[in-house]
Amino acid sequence: MTPLVEQRCFHHASREAVVRCPVCRRYFCRECVTEHDGRMICAECGTAKTAEPAHGASMAGWMVTGAGGFLLAWLIFYYLGLILARIPADFFGNV
Ligand SMILES: [Zn+2]
Ligand SMILES: [Zn+2]
Repeated sequence: MTPLVEQRCFHHASREAVVRCPVCRRYFCRECVTEHDGRMICAECGTAKTAEPAHGASMAGWMVTGAGGFLLAWLIFYYLGLILARIPADFFGNV
């Protein structure tokens, strides 16, 4: 992996990059990034983020998917546990 100090700002070729935007994955100097939701992202992605509310909707979608997946996993383990609990009885009963 290339050290961050060797990266140059996307906008200022003469400046060393200190932050890598997690959205567009480009490197920027301190002046070219803004804090957004606790993360340092570039001004372009910052304005794009605020203009588009799809991020919150996708987060809610992920939470629903996560809850559904958890419930499904719980049911699978529950029935698996019932099956496993019955196996030893038959198994040792026959031996
Ligand atoms: Zn960006
Ligand atoms: Zn810059």
